[in-house]
Amino acid sequence: MTAVNPSGWRPSSPEASGSEAAPTVTGNRALMLEQPLLFEIGSRDQTGVDIEALPAANRLGGLARGGVDLPGLSEPEAVRHYTRLSRQNYAIDLGLFPLGSCTMKHNPRLNEKMARLPGFADIHPLQPQETVQGALELINRLAFWLIELTGMHSVAMSPKAGAHGELCGLLCIRAALEARGDARQVVLVPESAHGTNPATAAFCGYRVENIPATREGRVDLEALKARLGSDVAAVMITNPNTCGLFEPQMKLISDAVHAAGGFVYCDGANFNAIVGKVKPGDLGIDAMHINLHKTFSTPHGGGGPGSGPVVLSEALAPYAPLPYAARYADGSFKMVEEEHAAEEHPEAFGRMVAFHGQMGMFTRALTYILSHGADGLKQVAEDSVLNANYLLRSLNDVLDAPFGFSGPCMHEAIFSDKGFAEGFSTIDVAKALIDEGFHPMTMYFPLVVHGAMLVEPTETESKANLDQFIAALRSIAGKAKSGDPALKAAPVHAPRRRLDETLAARKPVLAYQTPAPDGSGTGLGAKYGGG
Ligand SMILES: *Cc1c(COP(=O)(O)O)cnc(C)c1O
Repeated sequence: MTAVNPSGWRPSSPEASGSEAAPTVTGNRALMLEQPLLFEIGSRDQTGVDIEALPAANRLGGLARGGVDLPGLSEPEAVRHYTRLSRQNYAIDLGLFPLGSCTMKHNPRLNEKMARLPGFADIHPLQPQETVQGALELINRLAFWLIELTGMHSVAMSPKAGAHGELCGLLCIRAALEARGDARQVVLVPESAHGTNPATAAFCGYRVENIPATREGRVDLEALKARLGSDVAAVMITNPNTCGLFEPQMKLISDAVHAAGGFVYCDGANFNAIVGKVKPGDLGIDAMHINLHKTFSTPHGGGGPGSGPVVLSEALAPYAPLPYAARYADGSFKMVEEEHAAEEHPEAFGRMVAFHGQMGMFTRALTYILSHGADGLKQVAEDSVLNANYLLRSLNDVLDAPFGFSGPCMHEAIFSDKGFAEGFSTIDVAKALIDEGFHPMTMYFPLVVHGAMLVEPTETESKANLDQFIAALRSIAGKAKSGDPALKAAPVHAPRRRLDETLAARKPVLAYQTPAPDGSGTGLGAKYGGG
């Protein structure tokens, strides 16, 4: 690696920047500005702020202030650093973000405006409750609409993501089983499930067993029935499932599980496809998380924030966690906490979070629900399904659609890498999509489809946008099938070329190491001899 010069600027490295066509002196490519690490541009012996020298006699006993080893940058240098990096980011506000299972839809600006109202944004969870009645009412109202939309009995609002909601739902199930003295040990999960499902069950101390699927990509009801018994605590089913297919036998599945004394957990991450059309309560479900950040358009990605309220059946409602926002006959609202639990909610299994959940996400989700209305939410589901089927049918002559034979899909379309030339796989398609200016689709998930490409356009994409994406994908699929070596080089237009993803996942280097004075062994790559 090239040594860092004192001003932090480095001569460009064509290999790193992918600009071998016409390398520039700066490494910049027009308005795409190359940006080294913060640690590589700042100097350690200066700071961006003036810190007063410590008085000789201080109250720290023998403790002395040492160097903090942070890069010293002026404010404009720091601002430019982060702004340059942010421009290398792909975002839903830049273009189509077809990540299947994630529901990356447009986040209406109205949501943001509401979430920034000082009465919601500037309050503190420890404020006296009489000063935050509006916020408590908002949580209570959102709870009402989530119950209404799902046809369930109650809702636990506090879980902070889908996976956290799964944990909450399974803890309710475990509490209900314990209350009747029933020590069941097994949770059944289809092979196509999101990894959080088996992980949650295992985390709760259950043994996870797989439910087989039919050739059509649905739960095999007969196989499930054959496995049910007095040791099965619950089944976890995603509906619509992760192959983008509705489980039409859901009610029969629930009836069979209930007859065997178990509970039905539904992973509701794909609620977008059926919101306003199907009430999970009618399908016999006992607990289902709703990813507000997916279906109800609160911004997400890069690790958060999320919000995963769990709707519950009457059988599980008594065990729901504290706290919750209750409305009283005089019109006032109160967070029911541990100190009120004995009279108001004695069987709660405990609590999921320090306070009450994600206020900002609640505000955005309620805004979304109220601004769409009943007809608008129904149209969300219809348009998201229409868009996914448009993709499926526009591409299934060039890409293998493993369940295309079994009818329309729901809000996401799934393809496999069948028919690609020897040595070509889904990853090559994903990298080529980056060159075309699209975020790649979800890859290699679910595991039941070889080289899966799970594409979710969402309802907020226009036909023109879909047509552009389809044209790009058709061209890339053609190259993957003919074995065009150019595809293996992709991405060539991105700020970085193909990275060693295995090394990055298995041996992440998370701490910067100060290079030796001669500039060797620089920074992040040093530990593993990279550059
Ligand atoms: C997103 C997702 C989850 C997990 O939700 P998080 O909010 O990311 O924790 C679980 N199951 C499915 C099918 C999902 O798509």
